Amino acid sequence: MPNTHLRADRVEADLDRLLTAAGDELVVASNRQPYRHDYGDDGEVTVDRPAGGLTAGLDEVMRRVDGTWIAWGDGEADATVVDGDDTVTVPPDDAENTYALRRLWLDEDEVEGYYYEVANQVLWPLCHAALGTVESCGDAWADYRRVNDQFADAMADAATDADGDPLVWLHDYHLALAPRHLRERTGSDTGGRGDGPVDRTGGADPTLAHTWHIPWPSWDTFRACPNREALLDGLLGNDLLVFHVPRYCENFLRSADRGLDGTAVDFDAGTVDYRGRTTTVRAAPMGVPVDRIREQADSMEAAGFRAAFRKNRGIDRDTRLAVGVDRLDYTKGIVQRLDAFERLFEERPDYRGEVTFVQVGTESRSAIPAYADYQDRVEAAVDRVNDRFATDDWRPVVYTTEMISNEGLAGLYREADLAVVSPIRDGMNLVAQEFVAAGGDDPGVLVLSDQAGAHDTLGEWAVSVRPHDTEGFAAALDDALSMSERERRRRANALADGVEDDDLDSWLVDVLGAVARVASADGGVPTRADH
Ligand code: UDP
Repeated sequence: MPNTHLRADRVEADLDRLLTAAGDELVVASNRQPYRHDYGDDGEVTVDRPAGGLTAGLDEVMRRVDGTWIAWGDGEADATVVDGDDTVTVPPDDAENTYALRRLWLDEDEVEGYYYEVANQVLWPLCHAALGTVESCGDAWADYRRVNDQFADAMADAATDADGDPLVWLHDYHLALAPRHLRERTGSDTGGRGDGPVDRTGGADPTLAHTWHIPWPSWDTFRACPNREALLDGLLGNDLLVFHVPRYCENFLRSADRGLDGTAVDFDAGTVDYRGRTTTVRAAPMGVPVDRIREQADSMEAAGFRAAFRKNRGIDRDTRLAVGVDRLDYTKGIVQRLDAFERLFEERPDYRGEVTFVQVGTESRSAIPAYADYQDRVEAAVDRVNDRFATDDWRPVVYTTEMISNEGLAGLYREADLAVVSPIRDGMNLVAQEFVAAGGDDPGVLVLSDQAGAHDTLGEWAVSVRPHDTEGFAAALDDALSMSERERRRRANALADGVEDDDLDSWLVDVLGAVARVASADGGVPTRADH
């Protein structure tokens, strides 16, 4: 068992050093905000806190530095709590370690065009290689561009206010154009258009890093993108571009090579020279806050949840549990997973009454027809399997869309004999890692799609599936359910080591280390990898 405290201390020290090297001035930009203000039933203003994962991890980083977080203010009471600069000081419960949350306001057309249409009906399906689901952009592109402009304006303001040259850290596919727009505002856009740089920030020279949390598709897929040149041009405004796994880096480099005139790509070095700037492309596998998840799984609340869940859902104490936890997104492969369970119960009647599959599904992007449709398809598949096999005292599938607390979820992971994580395509997948992190003395088996980024690091110790191979998937479920205790423990220990080594803090260290290297001329700032 590794000494987690020692490790945590070292990661902590690394982080502090890297944050200092990054100038202690951090500007974060993301579509989602870390704190959201709403009105409660009594009309009082309430604050929604980051529940876990990346937002909570970044919130902790921001508390340690002097920084600004820029995001869309989508809460009902957001506008009432900001100052004249649209800024509110957060976190609300820690007066010592505060930072500024700068909110941007989007009108209905912008929300529709930028968020629902371009981000979620063009870029999301495109990057997940679901070309049949990509919609035409039309006027929405102008909204996407305008919102990215707003982000760039706010980032330029924050860069102007900073003492030194800040690090600007952008997140995800909502903000693909903002890096270039920011370069144009800071005057550090050095080439291409012949009209010279225009400095609107009083000489600030920010370092721009962008973490892309979904896959980058192959060039053959990306070339279908209607605005591919503009997207590449935007992203190549960054100094550093980070994907989860090397495959996505290779895909991006190929896209930059083939999809945009004027690029010089060095595939070995992982760099793109374009418009007088070098963009470094790196992979860093994002992890989960392992210690926190373990504490949640150990909590009384988790234990209570496990017992109540079985009781309330009529699941016998001896029935083995398989769990799936997903947003209801067509990339998650829930329908194919249900097909595989149907095949299992069909071919192996001895599992009937012995195993229940619990699917937790959270409603997501329901305003988009493809998502509303998907919810219907999942429900129909659940009903089909239950109609076929359920008995008076056993249901093969328990499906819930109820909101479950982090402790409840960690408890459910620990209660499970197997987790079934079978996306059709997924940038990383955190659920697989959360399941491993929550494992206790008697850990379960991870069944994992080879189409998830997490498979690149965990695949060796998981039971691998191809989501569309129903026969093979059912056989893999059988393998997982019939695995010897020794083999199960051997795999679970290796998975736990992997998830611990690549946890959320380690990812933060990796990203900040890569930033420090591209920002410093001599590349001399040590990182985790240099120990
Ligand atoms: N999640 C949750 N409740 C749910 C479904 C998901 O809290 O009903 C959380 C889950 O614990 C994980 C995140 O949402 O932290 C999903 O991350 P992942 O990378 O697996 O997929 P994404 O939804 O980001 O595509």
